[in-house]
Amino acid sequence: AEADPGFRFDNSYARLPERFHAFLAPTPVAAPGLIRVNRDLCADLGLDADALAASPDILAGNRVPAGAQPLAEAYAGHQFGNFVPQLGDGRAILLGEVIDREGRRRDIQLKGSGPTPFSRSGDGRAALGPVLREYIVSEAMHALGIPTTRALGAVTTGDYVRRDRVLPGAVLTRVAASHIRVGTFQYFAVRGDTEALRLLADHVIARHYPDLAGAENTALALLVRVAERQASLVARWMHVGFVHGVMNTDNVTVSGETIDFGPCAFMEAFDVNTVFSSIDERGRYAFGNQGGIANWNIARFAETLLPLIDEDEARAIAAATEVVQGFAIRFRDHWLSGMRAKLGLATAEDGDLALIQALLGAMQQNGADYTLTFRHLAGLLDGRAVPRDLFIDPTAFDAWAEGWHARLAREDTPADATAAAMRATNPVFIPRNHRVEQAIAAAEQRGDFAPFHRLVAILARPFDEQPDAAEYAEPAPPGEEVRRTFC
Ligand code: AMP
Ligand code: MG
Ligand code: MG
Repeated sequence: AEADPGFRFDNSYARLPERFHAFLAPTPVAAPGLIRVNRDLCADLGLDADALAASPDILAGNRVPAGAQPLAEAYAGHQFGNFVPQLGDGRAILLGEVIDREGRRRDIQLKGSGPTPFSRSGDGRAALGPVLREYIVSEAMHALGIPTTRALGAVTTGDYVRRDRVLPGAVLTRVAASHIRVGTFQYFAVRGDTEALRLLADHVIARHYPDLAGAENTALALLVRVAERQASLVARWMHVGFVHGVMNTDNVTVSGETIDFGPCAFMEAFDVNTVFSSIDERGRYAFGNQGGIANWNIARFAETLLPLIDEDEARAIAAATEVVQGFAIRFRDHWLSGMRAKLGLATAEDGDLALIQALLGAMQQNGADYTLTFRHLAGLLDGRAVPRDLFIDPTAFDAWAEGWHARLAREDTPADATAAAMRATNPVFIPRNHRVEQAIAAAEQRGDFAPFHRLVAILARPFDEQPDAAEYAEPAPPGEEVRRTFC
């Protein structure tokens, strides 16, 4: 008998009406080969990791486990500002949902599992490199404490996919609170299908926000909550220097988890204008634009909810507009409180924003590494490594640090406690782009997954000094910087 990993499926999305999805099984691959199973996540989900590893045919889509109801989800979305009324899962298949150890419902989805009715001209497949990147970066985000989809496992397929080159294929198993996006709502809104919108909103509230079920206006309450989650999420990206790269509305979850690790990358030297994605020619999704874009995406979400908010359109618009216009303040508050924590400030003063901006300005002018500047700030309090040498002109840092010391003196926390709190919020390890590329290149060119496994292990503990991995904390050496990413 085949090993049984113990999926106990309860598939609420499959119970939604036919027009929400297309049922179909994954397309089998030539020769499944296990890359990695995420043992911690298996434990969270009550799955037997040994059984999953022993039979990579499930992670490859060659065998559908009992109780799964494989399907592709329908959705629409704005891509770089342009509305596409039908996108949908073109290369992903939801196996079903399981309830984790904490009682939370989790989607189990295969990505790269073959064509679906939503594939358009795509092949339904994923290349090894992007699968490894998503595994590395999504798990790193989780370890950084940022809401995100997870990677349950990855397999090679033995098949090849044609991109600009011919590349080895792979399948990623993604775990998410759900895969429902702003674009899912848009799919029904553009079709004038208010009944489906109502079912979808009820499904989302029951699944993600059950406390809203009794609200006076549930659709408006849902808008407020999703806006709040997105404001918090995108602020947290900014705190760690993450550039998502493709913040289309089909890549915005209503759960507030980060999704779609395509051309994403972490900034090294601080620059608000940082863009990595090769397809983001105008910098729409540049680092410093992400809050404004999140606001734009929430406006698109609000539009879909209008018929549910009030049958009187003018009243619906007035209520939704208030929420959309409130987003900027919410985002700013989340960003500011996280930036205060990065500076070791437990209290709030009016001058804090100026203090933060002065540091960012000096970093931008002096090419200072974002991650290491914040990580080493605590060193000024306890005599460990300090940031000044990360600045082209170290005296620019020194001048700023005087003001910071003066500000810290008005906190009543002891210096060692402040330093410890700062090191618990400012990571030492992020997925440095050249390290991600090295891990991918070793796997692609030599079938060597050791650098991938090493990187995943280091990034699982981003706040811990790991002396044997010190070089992984460093930015790319000259000539190895990754300036462009591709998806
Ligand atoms: P993304 O840019 O990853 O958010 O994907 C946008 C849309 O393109 C989604 O509908 C995907 O399912 C679809 N898509 C991306 N790559 C492929 C592929 N290789 N085959 C089929 N559909 C794809
Ligand atoms: Mg996507
Ligand atoms: Mg993608």
